[in-house]
Amino acid sequence: MPPIISEEKCVKCGLCAQICPLDVIKVEQKRIIVKYPDECWHCRACAIDCPKQAITMRYPLSHMMLHVDVPTKTKEE
Ligand code: SF4
Ligand code: SF4
Repeated sequence: MPPIISEEKCVKCGLCAQICPLDVIKVEQKRIIVKYPDECWHCRACAIDCPKQAITMRYPLSHMMLHVDVPTKTKEE
């Protein structure tokens, strides 16, 4: 499942297209498009670096099942 780019929030800076290691996102005719959705490996780099928080990740069920909460250390430990 590819990320979703909000048309309302996106300012078309192109950063997500530059950052994506798999060239999933492209800038074409001044439009930001998710051109190769099946290539997305859900690294989240685009969503993290988007200055407008315009990208929403969607994870496949298999990825969600792998989610593990990492316990944070407290001062007492
Ligand atoms: S980084 Fe964010 S604001 Fe910039 S083009 Fe991509 S989605 Fe739009
Ligand atoms: S999550 Fe990673 S692979 Fe997928 S579009 Fe964003 S930067 Fe590219």
